[in-house]
Amino acid sequence: MHDLQRYSAISGKMPREMVLLRGYGCGWARCTFCDYHLDRCADGAANFALNRRALGQVTGEFRRLEAINSGSFCELDADTLTLLEKICLEKQIETLHVECHWMHRGKIPALREHYAAHGVRVRVRLGVESFDYDFRENVLHKGIAERDPAKIAAGFDECNLLFGLPGQTAESMRRDIETGLTHFDRLYLNLMTANSAPLQPDAAACAAFREELFPLYRDHPRIDILLENTDFGVG
Ligand code: SF4
Repeated sequence: MHDLQRYSAISGKMPREMVLLRGYGCGWARCTFCDYHLDRCADGAANFALNRRALGQVTGEFRRLEAINSGSFCELDADTLTLLEKICLEKQIETLHVECHWMHRGKIPALREHYAAHGVRVRVRLGVESFDYDFRENVLHKGIAERDPAKIAAGFDECNLLFGLPGQTAESMRRDIETGLTHFDRLYLNLMTANSAPLQPDAAACAAFREELFPLYRDHPRIDILLENTDFGVG
């Protein structure tokens, strides 16, 4: 996965720059719908060389930067984390968005405090995918051993939800969105697209999302919708 687009500037609802960095790899790597954890490398120096090119494109024009890495922020090499911080300060970034798996949630407070000391607000996104515990854990293998949405959201600011999967209906997807809006500041709705993972999109669920839910939530100020997983210009 060396030909990915790793920088973009997004001028939509929440204007921001975005970098897709590469880390040592998702420490979970068991979600049945995911193959982007393959964007990994055990060579920290090679990762840093790649990440330096992406971070070098950041201009700070929106004062907001999203830095994701097909895993969790803490799976980035130390040089990349140092450079990310340097870029945030040099480019006067006010808000930094990162992603984190549930299993690393204990590392978030230190990250927030570290950046807060430099005047940078950190927003952390969790891939929840669904609030239906049995679906999420037994079908998606997400690795969030908690049923209560309020407890899941504690310590996080934003979440991903994944739609268009076998077993999902317009009603179940709508329930997930409303639960997400109740407990998180911001939602990212991802419509499943075909990939090399075991779980693949379901045509009826995708159609239900496009026809019934997309028109309802398209203009919601706290929701971003990705009908293709490259809609943000990275990946
Ligand atoms: S969805 Fe996220 S947590 Fe799950 S395997 Fe992929 S990168 Fe890892």
